Amino acid sequence: MDLGLQDKTVVVTGGSSGIGLAAVRVFLQEGARVAFCARGAPRLHAVLDGLRTEFGADRVHAKAFSVLDGDAVRTFADEVTALFGGCDALVTNAGQGRVSTYAGTADDDWREELELKFFSQLHPIRAFESALRASDQGAIVAVNSLLAYQPEPHMVCTSAARAGVQNLLKSLSTELAPTIRVNSLLLGLVDSQQWQTRFEARADQSQSRADWYAKLAQQKKIPLQRLGTPDEPARAIAFLASPAASYVTGARLEISGGVSRFA
Ligand code: NDP
Repeated sequence: MDLGLQDKTVVVTGGSSGIGLAAVRVFLQEGARVAFCARGAPRLHAVLDGLRTEFGADRVHAKAFSVLDGDAVRTFADEVTALFGGCDALVTNAGQGRVSTYAGTADDDWREELELKFFSQLHPIRAFESALRASDQGAIVAVNSLLAYQPEPHMVCTSAARAGVQNLLKSLSTELAPTIRVNSLLLGLVDSQQWQTRFEARADQSQSRADWYAKLAQQKKIPLQRLGTPDEPARAIAFLASPAASYVTGARLEISGGVSRFA
């Protein structure tokens, strides 16, 4: 199936690692021009150099900044639209989870987490809104988590923030219609830098990577018996961002190996 992404411009936040990087690669393989950001400059530039060699220097652009810096996001939007002539799809992916219980989350932690989850959506969406409206295929794909509907006791704060974001995305899908489609992904456990970091900090350092991940999948009762790989959500992101999903808005797609407990 042709997704219709040839020569479209796609922006991915948090594109230097994991799911965001996998999405960047899928978009480039589909013939799109891609711009992405992340905070850490060394990794971002290493990734950018590799992608430019593989896909062509004129196909990909990247800049280091935090999506929590509204001015930096706006400047990036101006640069991308000037460089590529517009923006057809935005993937709001940047972020990370916070492991904390209710008892262990201080007020400042709540503020920090709510700011990350909400403004990692609001800043890029505001900055790219006019360019997306000018496209005849404007689309936003937000990377969210199953925690929005299925809170975990060790991730209370993140879960509550994700529920609020999911609610926001539904509102945006009506307010931005009919010119911009807004859809979301509900992720379960996907093997990326976040899980690699937790693996490296494992209590039993003699445990192999394969064993640690297999045990994790078992503990989490994932029906498909493994974590997802970053290219699995990336393919769903590419579909939802593409003209092939032209009648899909306000939808949420679960990519979780079947781990949700709600019907
Ligand atoms: P990774 O840590 O592998 O990648 C995260 C990316 O986002 C990196 O490029 C990181 O680069 C960037 N990033 C993080 N914070 C910011 C920021 N404030 N501004 C700009 N860039 C930022 O994680 P994943 O690929 O796993 O995560 C992608 C998204 O999916 C995240 O929002 C995460 O919370 C969500 N998610 C992931 C799940 C999983 O199991 N993997 C489960 C549920 C949700 P840098 O650090 O240099 O800024």
